[in-house]
Amino acid sequence: MSFCEDLAEMEQIEREWHALHPPKGREGGEMAEKCSGYVDRGWGTHSDCLYPGKVERDGMWYCGIHDPARLEKRDAEYRARIAADNEARGRAVLIAQLKESVVETAKAWGNCPSAGNSIALAEAVKALRKAESK
Ligand SMILES: [Zn+2]
Repeated sequence: MSFCEDLAEMEQIEREWHALHPPKGREGGEMAEKCSGYVDRGWGTHSDCLYPGKVERDGMWYCGIHDPARLEKRDAEYRARIAADNEARGRAVLIAQLKESVVETAKAWGNCPSAGNSIALAEAVKALRKAESK
């Protein structure tokens, strides 16, 4: 059986399933608008979503899965999570660098506890504390 025949059979099975399981939530039994979304079938192929439309956006109907508002919210949440991850990673790198700086200035102070090295060490510790407290 070819890939296309497989796809046609899969869609037929899905149609039969939907016919046996009418969606709940629409009263009156009027002809429901079909969802305008697509279902990804892999390998660059897709087919029409077979669910009835639940929400109307700009004159097009969408099921709960393909509702553009839901997809937009999901994408925004995903982007926010990535941004938070990146920020946490950047902060971890900064703190590691500041710790290294504290160690290096402490070594310099150990070799020569001059006023200049004391100030440099105090400033390195202050910068580390500030970064850690954020
Ligand atoms: Zn849909």
